[in-house]
Amino acid sequence: MSICKVCLFLFFFPFLSFAQLAKSYTPLPIQDTIPAITYTSLSKRLDVDKSQVAEPQKKVNNYIKYLYEERFKYVVSNFNDDYIITEGELTSYLQQILTNIYKSNPQLSQETMVYAFRSSIPNAFSFGDGNLAVTLGLLSRLKNDSQVAFILCHEMAHYHRKHGDKQIQALAKLNYDKELQKKLEHNNTYSYKKELIKSLELSITKHSRTYEFEADSIGLTYFLNTNYDRNAPVECMDILSKSDKGLDQNIIDFKKYFDFPDYPIKPSWLTYEKSTTWHKSEKDGEFGDSDTTHTHPNCMRRQAALKRQLQGKGAVTITSANDLFQSIVTQSTFEQITSHYHFKKYGKALFGSLLLLERYPENAYLHAMVSKCIYQLYTHQKNHEIGKVLEQPDSRFDDNYDQFLTFFQQLRLTEIASLGYFYSAGRRQIDASNEDFWHAYWLCSQLPVSKILPSKVKAEYAATFPKGKYLTNMP
Ligand SMILES: [Zn+2]
Repeated sequence: MSICKVCLFLFFFPFLSFAQLAKSYTPLPIQDTIPAITYTSLSKRLDVDKSQVAEPQKKVNNYIKYLYEERFKYVVSNFNDDYIITEGELTSYLQQILTNIYKSNPQLSQETMVYAFRSSIPNAFSFGDGNLAVTLGLLSRLKNDSQVAFILCHEMAHYHRKHGDKQIQALAKLNYDKELQKKLEHNNTYSYKKELIKSLELSITKHSRTYEFEADSIGLTYFLNTNYDRNAPVECMDILSKSDKGLDQNIIDFKKYFDFPDYPIKPSWLTYEKSTTWHKSEKDGEFGDSDTTHTHPNCMRRQAALKRQLQGKGAVTITSANDLFQSIVTQSTFEQITSHYHFKKYGKALFGSLLLLERYPENAYLHAMVSKCIYQLYTHQKNHEIGKVLEQPDSRFDDNYDQFLTFFQQLRLTEIASLGYFYSAGRRQIDASNEDFWHAYWLCSQLPVSKILPSKVKAEYAATFPKGKYLTNMP
């Protein structure tokens, strides 16, 4: 039986080999809108949820329905804003593991779907309406199928125990709590409503502490019904507890990448002192968004609880990471770069590309990404908007990221332009058979220091790729 599953697996998932990635990478498609079939099934689900609301107070009833509608809109916006990956190997892989867990747990009806989610913050969530998600950042940190399975069991437990619905109900009751209303009488209704919606979002991304322990404990009972490795739950907590540190701590060798015969690197660029300031507030950006920073102190307590529950549960099976799993991890790592670029976090995309080039030094996709990001830094610097796409150094960042930010933040406009142009021109002889290279080279040929006209680059690209996918974007 299990052998059959493995065969099916390999048949459906053409995994990425090191040999392929040595040369290039083809990113997953990014959908612009929610697939119609998904929208329809979510709407149906919303109707069912609303029809089952049965609180004694009518206004509480209506308010719960209203919050379900808001939840529905929130989930749809996550599809429409390209965070949820609906197609491709990552999502199919997660879905396959989810199905395996349900097969081992016939007491549960298979009401959930799982998706890979475009975020680098290691996290997973249950939206409460049957949709589960695992971020690319978490996927790239896990070590085997069993760990993925435990993460999914935890999220399934949130769903099947209706933690999200319970939080919505509590929120609605709170909203009509007479005591609370008195206190809020002087509050502006609009901002109060906004606060409530915010707490709804929070209830999706950050379940309360009690629910976390319950999801671990119930999730573990689902997990123990499967054949996955029993070391995984405890290992997952170790991984989560370390998740505010970057996975790759290597210091980038700027001289290796940005020292050109016609444009030598300036030694002054390479001086670095660890930042002493805090530029980022706890509220905005990833410090604030990160679930893990808040759950950290909890991870070790959750691990202890899991260990207690696992005592005397029989032999541990050992699974080692297989080729498919390695391919999933690698794809998650590449897709984080693609996502950062798509969401205009050019600093992060550039940083990730430079780190990954250490492992795949001849990957044309990564080299093109470096050129494109520098081009974007140039245009944003020119419009005095670099702060939107490249963070300021911050003493709380990992050393390698802080050093990277220091390097790029000190450059003048013409220096950024020069790095972009010389970098992409330097790949001309090597990457000419790659379309991403041509797109990057065409962008960088528009930089003021360029020695080649964009029209000439376009003509050369068209000659090599008469049906090139970027041609339509080149006016
Ligand atoms: Zn949870």
